[in-house]
Amino acid sequence: MASETLGRLTDLRGADAHPLEAAREMVQRLGRPLGPDELAELARRTRVPVAELRGAISSYADLAEGPADVRVCVGTSCALAGGEGLAEALSGRAHVRVAHCLGHCDRSPALLRRDGRVALPGPGGDADRALAAPAAAPAPSSVRARCREPIVTRRLGRGGFADLARARANDAYATLERALGGGPEAVLAAVEGSGLRGRGGAGFATGRKWRLAAAAPAEARYVVCNGDEGDPGSFVDRLLMEEDPHGVIEGMALCAYAVGAREGIAFVRSEYPAARAALARAVDDARAAGILGGAVMGSGPAFDVRVVSGLGSYVCGEETALLEALEGRRCEVRLRPPYPVTAGLHGRPTVVDNVETLVNAVWIVERGADAYAALGTAASPGTKALCLNHGFARPGVLEVEMGTPLREVVEEEGGGPAGPAPLAAVLAGGPMGSVIPPGEWDVPVCYTAMAERGLVLGHGGLVALPDDADLPALLRGWLRFMAAESCGRCTPCRLGSRRALDLAGGPGLRGARAELERLLEVVEGASLCAFGQGIPRPVRRLIELFGDRIAAAQAAS
Ligand code: SF4
Repeated sequence: MASETLGRLTDLRGADAHPLEAAREMVQRLGRPLGPDELAELARRTRVPVAELRGAISSYADLAEGPADVRVCVGTSCALAGGEGLAEALSGRAHVRVAHCLGHCDRSPALLRRDGRVALPGPGGDADRALAAPAAAPAPSSVRARCREPIVTRRLGRGGFADLARARANDAYATLERALGGGPEAVLAAVEGSGLRGRGGAGFATGRKWRLAAAAPAEARYVVCNGDEGDPGSFVDRLLMEEDPHGVIEGMALCAYAVGAREGIAFVRSEYPAARAALARAVDDARAAGILGGAVMGSGPAFDVRVVSGLGSYVCGEETALLEALEGRRCEVRLRPPYPVTAGLHGRPTVVDNVETLVNAVWIVERGADAYAALGTAASPGTKALCLNHGFARPGVLEVEMGTPLREVVEEEGGGPAGPAPLAAVLAGGPMGSVIPPGEWDVPVCYTAMAERGLVLGHGGLVALPDDADLPALLRGWLRFMAAESCGRCTPCRLGSRRALDLAGGPGLRGARAELERLLEVVEGASLCAFGQGIPRPVRRLIELFGDRIAAAQAAS
């Protein structure tokens, strides 16, 4: 059986087959995780030891758990909309896997069917109907801009720009074409001068990253588009890849031109099948039109892009873990330095930028560094696309200038709570983000201003927390997510996340708070990457603000 299945895999014809891609194809064909015989055969064909393969496979949920009839989102927004109950209700009738975010937080809860279609039954909706074929495509998300210059959202919410002709009629690739005549230094100078900071959460200076990669001596360099938007609550990158894929590709091509890369990889999480398909189709169309593949736009240096699917690991959103995945290994964070800009993919200089960052870069090269720097704040120029979940009266993507007070976003643009209960807090930046109560909503949306107050903006996801929310379930959900998605590289995060779940996620927060705080101190101080270091922030804050309510509710249940 194993040989028969493997023999049909074109990816395995050569000894240099990518072990994870081969494993993925095999798992999909089998419809289940690999057994010992199949693993041994895969090891023989790929010349990777069984133990190494087993270790790698175990770090990717898609390989370790296999395909499911349906994936039910239990990310923060969907959990607040009954996602866990939905997963439970369906589990007797279908093979269910949970997902920690499907990127439809504006219309939670969300389900992803095996056929790749998304179903949005609504809170308390009919789960069986959501599973039945055919599923109507969800209506487009609301997209709004409250800024002088829409940058990220300029081609969103209007439909049709995944089509190359329509995108080009709307100026796609015009900036790239012009930039090719000005030389790489002009592109580097524009991005550096703009003050653009990476929109994936870390906020590192994009121009500096590009400059370092360009300056690093190497035979080859890479550009990686990080489409692993895993932070529950964020979905703008999904919309960009689905609705403006040529804008994303143009950003990659500009980066490649600036740093001297000939190969680009767009890494798209498997929870976003429509985004992956749209981007792959756009790459094919751009190649057929002579924009990619050989000389860029027919006159520039060679550059091509391939689209790679993630395998269901949250930590792959971290740039070095993503590179490990691309190299076919366990999804684990690398020790740094060296940083990817000097030693990234296959040890070569690699720029890893998230989707929104690349789209910003196109506007900057088109309009100039000064025009960009004139928007937002001095410390955080430009705009930020915020994602408002279904808990707001006006959910969707909202692009604002950096510096906009959070209160305006929540109360005016977001319209306040969707339901009758007032908001107890807003959760910003995913489960490792910040719990921000109304008294702190005067903080500007700005990396620096928020950091000065101990807050994080992260990827820009905002989840409304109504006063009547099930807080013990929320805390338990976060801790489960942290325990499930820790890559396991370092002990404080791997074991600390599980122990925190035992202490705070079970029935008895009361009596466990002192031990929990001691544990969080260790996890925060001794974890290797931002994931572990970020675990304590929201947990502490939720308990600080609502600990008595949580303990009372736990004691009563
Ligand atoms: Fe992995 Fe957690 Fe350590 Fe980061 S902190 S390297 S996610 S185990």
